[in-house]
Order: sequence, then structure tokens, then C-alpha cells
Amino acid sequence: MGEPLLIRASLLNPVGADHWVFYRDGGLLVHEGRILCMGPMSEFRQQKVSAMLELDSLLVPGFVDVHIHWVQHHVRGRFQSDLMEWLRNHIWPEEIEFDNELFARRHAQTFFHDTTRAGTTLGMAYSSPHVRALEIAASEAIGDWVLGNSIMEKAAPEPLCRASPDNADQVAPLLKKLGHEHYAVTPRFALNCSAELMRELGDLARRENALIQTHLSESLNEVREIREAFPEAQDYTDVYDRAGLLGPRSVLGHCIHLSPREHETLARRGAWIAHCPSSNEALDSGRMDLQAVRRHGIRYALASDVGAGPSHSMLHVMQRFLAQHRDAGVDVNAREALYHATLAGAECLGRDDRAGSFAPGKRADFVELPLPDRRGGPDHWFESLLAGEARDLEERPLRTWIGGSPVDLGQEEDGDDWPPLG
Ligand SMILES: [Zn+2]
Repeated sequence: MGEPLLIRASLLNPVGADHWVFYRDGGLLVHEGRILCMGPMSEFRQQKVSAMLELDSLLVPGFVDVHIHWVQHHVRGRFQSDLMEWLRNHIWPEEIEFDNELFARRHAQTFFHDTTRAGTTLGMAYSSPHVRALEIAASEAIGDWVLGNSIMEKAAPEPLCRASPDNADQVAPLLKKLGHEHYAVTPRFALNCSAELMRELGDLARRENALIQTHLSESLNEVREIREAFPEAQDYTDVYDRAGLLGPRSVLGHCIHLSPREHETLARRGAWIAHCPSSNEALDSGRMDLQAVRRHGIRYALASDVGAGPSHSMLHVMQRFLAQHRDAGVDVNAREALYHATLAGAECLGRDDRAGSFAPGKRADFVELPLPDRRGGPDHWFESLLAGEARDLEERPLRTWIGGSPVDLGQEEDGDDWPPLG
């Protein structure tokens, strides 16, 4: 059982898109892996607490990455070309390798090590089409993950494609085995699936209230190919809408080249966007129209989209989010970035009752960051933590805590300065 532990540190807690609560001298009371309460340290002075830990660091809730391809982690940021070319020439040949169980296990271990090291404690990831690789990832996961095997029946190398109805038939047993909390129905994107298959998956997901993840409107070439493949649909978004794949449990990667009609459809269905600014920069896909997304009240959460995204660090994603929209003259700030990399992601995955912020009853999952220079307020503090190259940001967190304990990630092979764990 153990006694409650009071952690004294600076705390930054996102509570909304434009609002966070900051305690320069804060206290976080943790018991049995959950948060009992948090507030300014002065509120804890009267309380009798047997165990207290004083940290010279800034704590933020664990990061949430709602769109990442764990099977592309080892080739992240390596290729920069048009999306369709990149998939066909580089990514699909790599994913074929995940048929090999040893290969899959080794890469799963590295992926979860690296994402945890970088402060991600909750996420949703695409797997390769191989069911065994998906099960291996589920068994190796550190933290709280939703996984889905990419469902592909055509327009990709033969070893990645499965004939339908096998594709849909595979889903129900996997949902049962991994559980609704940890499995997402994952038609990779419309070009890989027939309208019939997507309809079947849409029906099943609705019946089971399952999470759905797919890609929508990432590049102009892709949009063009979709128009040819689905002449009956009004637009790309309509392809998914007709299949019943759009709802509040749907998470659509990218959503860059959308018409007002498509934005309206997403808003009406209550679907989520996985906004991947660093990936969009890397593949030169364009900028998601944040103003239109805000205007239509479409909900979005941030994501790394590794391997198109060059880094799994959500600090890096937040950096690119601010830079990309500011370059376009759009007003964005650090509060919005942190909210969309934490609490919004938890809401997107249906976990805001237990993750995404510091609140009583939630899991004590958080990231310990070095204290920035003490001038200025929290906006200045937090933005200074987002400065640097991707590699620096991947290693900026001092420790990642899951369920009230720092995760012991062991010695890194390259002898990096991972601090000893208490
Ligand atoms: Zn993706």
C-alpha cells in the first residue's frame, strides 16, 4: 500500500486551449499511482505527510501522441520526398520486415524505450499489417497505448496486402484480445481499401464503439488519386463519411487540403484531427489550416507521425507547431501547444478521466523537465524548453513518471546521461 508521497516541484497544468495553471512552488500528492491533490506548496504545509520528495525541476503531465507509426521509428526522418513516393519507395518495403518476430520485438522495445525517454506516456500507434507484430508491440508497451494493425487490401506491395473479407474478420478477435481501450480499427488510408471494406470496418467500429484511426488529405497527389479511385464521393472526407468511419471516436491524421464542406463534415461528425506539424514540414505536405479548424470548432490533438515526422519528441512537435503557424501569421502560444500535446490527446483517446493533466484521481503520469532560467513567466519558461534540435529535445526530459514512479529505462547503449533513478 505505502504512504502518500508529496512531491515538491514547479508544476504546469494545462486546463484548456488557452489556459494553464502554474505553481512555481507546487505540491503534488500521489498515492498508489494516482494523484490525490495538487496545488501551491503553501496548501500542504498543514498536512501531515510522511514522505516528501523535493525536485529541482518543472513537472508537466505526460505527453500524448495520437498518431505515430511505431514500425517506422527506426527510419524516422530519413527520407524527404512526396508522400506517395515516400510510402511506395521507402516505407512499405521497411514494413514488410515486421513479418519477422525477432525484428518486430527488437524494434518494439526500442520504440517504447525512446518514446518513454522523451516523455510520452499515452499514445495511439499504427502497426504494420502483421497481427503478430501488433501483439508483440502490445506486450512490450510502456505506458498506455492504443494500437492498430494497418489494414490494406490493395495498392501496396503484395506481402502487406490481405484479401478481404480476411481484413474485417481479423478485427473483431483483435478488439477482443487487446480490449477496446487498446485497439483501434485502422484502415491505413482510403487508397489501400475498397469502399466495401471501409463500410464493413465502419459498421464494426460503430457497433463496438471502437476507436478508428486513418489518414485524411495529407498531400495533393494523394487527393488527386482519391478522386480517381472514388468518383462517386463528393470529396476525400466523403469517402470516409459514406463508409461510416467518421464520429467522435475517429482520429484523422493530417487534414491539410480540405474544403469548407469537408471541415463542416468533420465538425458535424465530431471527429478528431491528429495534427502533425513536424511531419507536414518534413514531407512538404502543406500547413493544416488552423484558423479554419478553430472556426469550425473541430477538435484536434498534436502528434509526431513518426516516421514521416523526424522525431518522436512531443517537445519537438510543439516547437514545430508554434513555428509553422507563426510563420503563417497565425497567433499561437505555448499554452495551446502544451494543451494539445497532453489533455487534448487524452480527450481524443477517451482518457481524460484518467490522463492528460494533474487532477485528483488521475494517474500520476508526468514528465520532469529541467528548470529553465527563472526570468519571465511560465510562457517564457515553457518556450525556452522547446528550443533546440530534435535530438536534444528527445533527451530533454530528466525522467518520465508513470503511475507515480520514475520509469527505469536501464542503461542506454550509447552511454547517454540518463540520471540514476531513486
Ligand atoms: Zn501517419
